[in-house]
Amino acid sequence: MPVVKSICNMCSTRCGINVHVENGQIASVTGMEEHPVHDLCLRSQAIPELVHSPERITNPLRKVSGRFEEISWDEAFDQIAAKLSQIRDQHGPKALLVHVGIPFVATHTQKVIRRFSDLYGTPNYTTGSSFCSLARTMSYNLTCGGHLCPDYSDDTRCMLIWGMNPEESFPSQANTIVGLREKGSKLIVIDPRTTSMAKEADYHAQLRPGTDTALALGLLNVLIAEELYDKAFVDEWTFGFERLVEQVEKYTPQLVEEITWVPAKTVMKIAETYGTNKPASIALGISLDHSTNGIQASRAVSTLIAVAGNIDIAGGNVFAPGFRQTNLRVEEKITQDKPVGADYPLFTKYTLEQTVTPAIDGILHDEPYPIKALLVVGANPLLTWPNTNKVKRVFEGLEFVVLADLFMTDTAEMADILLPGTTFLERQDLIDYRNRGFPIIVKTNQVIEPIGNSWEDWKIWAQLGRKMGYGEHFPWKETDELFAHLLKEAGLSLDQIKQNPGGFPYAPQRYQEYLENGFNTPSGKVEIFSELMKQHGYDPLPTFKEPAESPVSRADLAEKYPLILIAGPRTRVYYHSQYRNLPRLREEMPEPLLEIHPETAKRDGIGDGDMAKVESLRGEIKVKAKLVEDIHPKVVCAQHGWSEANINVLTDDENRDPTSAYPGFRSVLCRVTKIQ
Ligand code: SF4
Repeated sequence: MPVVKSICNMCSTRCGINVHVENGQIASVTGMEEHPVHDLCLRSQAIPELVHSPERITNPLRKVSGRFEEISWDEAFDQIAAKLSQIRDQHGPKALLVHVGIPFVATHTQKVIRRFSDLYGTPNYTTGSSFCSLARTMSYNLTCGGHLCPDYSDDTRCMLIWGMNPEESFPSQANTIVGLREKGSKLIVIDPRTTSMAKEADYHAQLRPGTDTALALGLLNVLIAEELYDKAFVDEWTFGFERLVEQVEKYTPQLVEEITWVPAKTVMKIAETYGTNKPASIALGISLDHSTNGIQASRAVSTLIAVAGNIDIAGGNVFAPGFRQTNLRVEEKITQDKPVGADYPLFTKYTLEQTVTPAIDGILHDEPYPIKALLVVGANPLLTWPNTNKVKRVFEGLEFVVLADLFMTDTAEMADILLPGTTFLERQDLIDYRNRGFPIIVKTNQVIEPIGNSWEDWKIWAQLGRKMGYGEHFPWKETDELFAHLLKEAGLSLDQIKQNPGGFPYAPQRYQEYLENGFNTPSGKVEIFSELMKQHGYDPLPTFKEPAESPVSRADLAEKYPLILIAGPRTRVYYHSQYRNLPRLREEMPEPLLEIHPETAKRDGIGDGDMAKVESLRGEIKVKAKLVEDIHPKVVCAQHGWSEANINVLTDDENRDPTSAYPGFRSVLCRVTKIQ
């Protein structure tokens, strides 16, 4: 049976795989030994079903009188180009908003779509990073001048896992952590739920959702009070330490217990364990970002890493070395127009894109101008953006929606034109692993031809560009030509990369580079105090603010909605809104569930498996209750991405982190009642 080496792109871990092909069909996949990440998870077993699903969209479709009918690619391009031209002429190019999903959409395709957006002239280019890891990237950059990764090695004496459950979200990382734990490394878990990893940890802080900044400031308080910090590093390489000392003074373990529910004794033990077992690494999860105080939370944790002297050392937290692909932006066409909704200048400065949540109200109220068309690529906003009832109204009010995806989704149903995308085995990708802690790049192999009439994704947007009259900007006919162009900036040839299916190492991991060049921040130091934050009107020091919706900030609301909902924990079965239609995975997790503590459930007469109604200020959903001891009695939890119990009906788009615009997905006031 022929075997082709490729990469699994069912989640952002992107494991190396050997793909076994039989009669032109994907038969199975196994881990590719020569790739650094090859412990495959359950999802990989569903790859053949994903690729060959009979539910795939395999032709361009156009909606006529509420029903989709097949059209040719030529017709699709002609109709999209004509409508987008008309909208640009009538309302200006900024009347188009683009939203690109990740990781479904490969990096090179994102770059081509970005190029198309520049040429069209819209400032409104957004991606799934409006809710994903870019807030943390921004925060790390603001504080330390680069993206920090945990450097798990035999040197690591302590691992702090904060707001993530690698056993569900990054199984290969979980294996590494378990391995180091067995070798004697300390393990600390900070999570509102008692996850399986928390059960194995030396210390578990079961904090109140959204209070991470207060806990980080409390840990800093103990490190400083007990002189467990790295004085030499702090003196030479940090900016604003004296002001931090004043800032954290009041965050005694006792006050932190009141705010976070974490016992003062546990706060002290965690600080002492982290401070005395060097090198220590911290892995931050998305939970910190999904908060209205998220940027400050990851600024506080970055500060903790630096003050403890764990930054840029082997076994601690290190910078991912840079690899620059050729920029496909069209500099002379980049518009200076403001984005729709509110402007978040620091987010744009560090991520080079706009954030989409403020656009929800912006579009509904034509603020500051009308949006008439939406181009959605590999994303399902009706399940993934906050406040679904409002998002639905956004889509209903648009003049034109084009969407590219693999399957019919809640959002696809709202489209005027649907385009068939490809899975990762029907195309080639160029994947950089730096944010996973490996400075390698992989060019994946296309294993089979695109299914039906689907096209390799980047070609769709290049061809649309040609139809719109931008042909000179899309000279590449084949993927190899595009990739060769993208690698030019790094001085690499495609052949070099092709010879290394397990990854071409483009840079060695280096430590303490700051000794030569300083940190990549305005002061050249770790910026505990950020002048840039101050200039933009944000708190310049890591500062705790109550979540916008919490029993403390909204005591009035908490009377009616007494529970805190954590919306959107990751699962090892699905990925965001994807894969519910794959039988192998559905078998594993057949339905959406609400995790609720037995005490809380009993009070409302809810038994295990009963249907419950969950309500918030925004709306209500019905979902089956699952009674679990592992959650705090005042907290409930449910996954996002289920059409039949869409948790984003309950979440809020209006109260956002002031710097990143991320919504507070992880702290939503709600009430739960039994459905009789
Ligand atoms: S962790 Fe699983 S889904 Fe993610 S890339 Fe690896 S095998 Fe695929």
